[in-house]
Amino acid sequence: MTILDDKIAAFFRPEILKLNAYHVPSAEEMVKLDAMENPYHWPPEMVEAWLDRLRNIRPNRYPDPQPEHLKHALKIHAKVPENMEILLGNGSDEIIQILLMALAGKPEATVMTPQPTFVMYQQLAVSLGLKCIGVPLQKDFSLDREAMLSALDQYRPQIVFLAYPNNPSGNLFDEKVILEIIEKSPGLVILDEAYAPFAQASFMERLSQFDNLLVMRTLSKLGLAGLRLGFLAGRRAWLEQLDKLRLPYNINVLTQITAEFALANAAVFEQQTAQIRSDRTKMYQQLQNLPQVEVFPSAANFILFRVPDADTVFHKLKQQGILIKNLHPSGGLLTNCLRVTIGTPGENEVFLTALKTALTP
Ligand SMILES: *Cc1c(COP(=O)(O)O)cnc(C)c1O
Repeated sequence: MTILDDKIAAFFRPEILKLNAYHVPSAEEMVKLDAMENPYHWPPEMVEAWLDRLRNIRPNRYPDPQPEHLKHALKIHAKVPENMEILLGNGSDEIIQILLMALAGKPEATVMTPQPTFVMYQQLAVSLGLKCIGVPLQKDFSLDREAMLSALDQYRPQIVFLAYPNNPSGNLFDEKVILEIIEKSPGLVILDEAYAPFAQASFMERLSQFDNLLVMRTLSKLGLAGLRLGFLAGRRAWLEQLDKLRLPYNINVLTQITAEFALANAAVFEQQTAQIRSDRTKMYQQLQNLPQVEVFPSAANFILFRVPDADTVFHKLKQQGILIKNLHPSGGLLTNCLRVTIGTPGENEVFLTALKTALTP
């Protein structure tokens, strides 16, 4: 080992040295179906109107630290109950970070999630020195009610994260079990509704019912992944404290003006997401028709499926210019699982044809 290696090893906590960096593969020239992006751009006249709007931006000034117009538009769009507040984040990833920062330095601070789920909960918890308990889901990716309730008793977690629908499985957890978890939780329960535009199910209306529930949303999966805008909805008393942990200028001027513009044109996104939902049904049926494929139901804009040999299929698809997500390396319930994002009808066709080829020995 060189002296520099020693210095680095002494500087970082062992958990951080062990972490895998969040890996984003290069997708140049590929059919990109790996990251749950909406594949559609905007109509040309909408792009023109947007560019006109951008003329008013003053990049020499700091962004508005509390953009009330944008917050109001988001509340209307997401049907946030009137007596609830929202907190904006640079993507919902930043909201997760803010929530976990609130626990950093607290002795015995514990976070709980089902397993497998969205990797950022654990990634950020570990990087902040927090203990993260993963409770295995059942074989069909539903919540294990008894295991969740007994883990709540045993570990008394300060935060439980539930992705609704779950990523990478795509399913909605049982509403009754979620309600029990909220009732029995000693701390906060965060319902992460990143895929709300595709799910037509939400806990937003239930915010008034529980004082330990917060609902998280993002504009990323709706079709604005490049903007980085997420938000947390809930009681003012919680958000007021969390707001102290937020960097004052976390939402830049381009994002603020573009998000407001996009929400004023919500019909365009409604049409795009309706198309994606209908193409998801078609993709599900076509995957089901393949005898070597086990496909899992999805309420999101992606589908999880299992094949006899995921590594081989993944690489064969890549050779044919198609990038999806290989979850096989995660092991456990995700053994031999792949996740495909719903693209345009053309992309979905290209993917299915390539998949059939990849499944042929
Ligand atoms: C994609 C995703 C997010 C991250 O969203 P950003 O707002 O883009 O940071 C959060 N939660 C889940 C479950 C996701 O799949």
